[in-house]
Amino acid sequence: MPVEGFMQKSFHFDYELHSTWENLAESDLQLVHLAYEAMDLAYAPYSEFKVGAAVRLSNGLTLKGNNQENIAYPSGLCAERVVLFYAGANYPTESIETICVVARGELMPSEFLLSPCGSCRQVMLETENRQAKKIRVILVNQDKRTMILHSVNDLLPFGFGK
Ligand SMILES: [Zn+2]
Repeated sequence: MPVEGFMQKSFHFDYELHSTWENLAESDLQLVHLAYEAMDLAYAPYSEFKVGAAVRLSNGLTLKGNNQENIAYPSGLCAERVVLFYAGANYPTESIETICVVARGELMPSEFLLSPCGSCRQVMLETENRQAKKIRVILVNQDKRTMILHSVNDLLPFGFGK
């Protein structure tokens, strides 16, 4: 007997899981390599957890960013937001097709899923909503396992905003 005003709902999404990023398509491989390049340049003297992010824009251009820490901890910024804000500042009319994130450091065991923090998810979601076009998300674990999501919304259902 159903209770009035109550509905059981569910949320479902599809994603890809690859045992390694090394077999991805060429355009995705380029982004992974770029993200690793960025990671090596990260400024992370406090956490020693270096993160690199790379995006491909709708005009084909690729951009990269990395985490930038600060001795006043909250003043630093994650790699994802560094590259997304750079893209928004310099290429506001281009949409972002794909973002790739990689990391290295002992903050997390290598088999742990590398996944953007809540604040980055919120910024990624607004970027996706703003461009009205889904962003593919490539997440590379430290053990090379790779997850590909087809939309930021899958990472942050019921996100704040429209
Ligand atoms: Zn973050």
